Amino acid sequence: MFKRNRHGIQIKSPEQLEKMRAAGLVVGRTLDLLKRSVRPGMTPLDLDVIAEKAIRDEGAIPSFKGYQGFPATICASVNDEVVHGIPSDARKLREGDIISIDCGAILEGWHGDSAVTVPVGEVDPKLTELMRITEESMWRGIAALTPGRHLSDIGYEVERYVKSQGRFGIPPEYGGHGIGTEMHMDPWIANHGKPGRGPVLEEGMCLAIEPMVNLGTERTRVLPDEWTVVTIDGKQSAHFEHSVAVTHNGPWVLTALDGGKERLAQLQN
Ligand code: MG
Ligand code: MG
Repeated sequence: MFKRNRHGIQIKSPEQLEKMRAAGLVVGRTLDLLKRSVRPGMTPLDLDVIAEKAIRDEGAIPSFKGYQGFPATICASVNDEVVHGIPSDARKLREGDIISIDCGAILEGWHGDSAVTVPVGEVDPKLTELMRITEESMWRGIAALTPGRHLSDIGYEVERYVKSQGRFGIPPEYGGHGIGTEMHMDPWIANHGKPGRGPVLEEGMCLAIEPMVNLGTERTRVLPDEWTVVTIDGKQSAHFEHSVAVTHNGPWVLTALDGGKERLAQLQN
């Protein structure tokens, strides 16, 4: 009942895509609530509590909690933390910080996974620009999700856009992934590279597109907590993610409240 193509990539039926959409909307609504909740003086753990309640209130399960031992519902990565930050109450968010919130949920066995980076109060314009560039690079990658294009076109579009905006670091060892009956499935998706390589995209594939962009070097390290990824130069990093289905009508952004319609229409102009 779970079909895979010859590359081992799960192919969803139209009915299964509707279930992916339902799971995606749980994540989309949760992140929308979190975005509106962020303010100076809160802790990342406060956001985690809000996220877990929102997901469970919808009858879904937080997928990160317990994943390879991860202790929380969200990953909360502040400033120089790139991804996989563990929410804690050790440090309050301060005006001028940026925080990446990554969130996943399971509904009726199907996964959604999405991330946003948001400013805490007023932030330096160069951070606003970093977030804008990272989010836009994600949408450029998403726009490549049409049947007949190649997997590597996604990373090509992400990197091409980021490079067109100036000198930024894209950590090469992190990327997107297939998603469906598990959070992380084949294929792995680079945020850089040449176009026209890898499997051809087919209707029914669901892929999580998630660029990370650093203000400085692309080089990162993992903290002794064995989760938190930070930039080695201490400069800030942004991260955005959506789970997206490939359909004959183009990309269907499962974790965006409007399915991605508005942003994808802008890109076509
Ligand atoms: Mg994620
Ligand atoms: Mg992901």
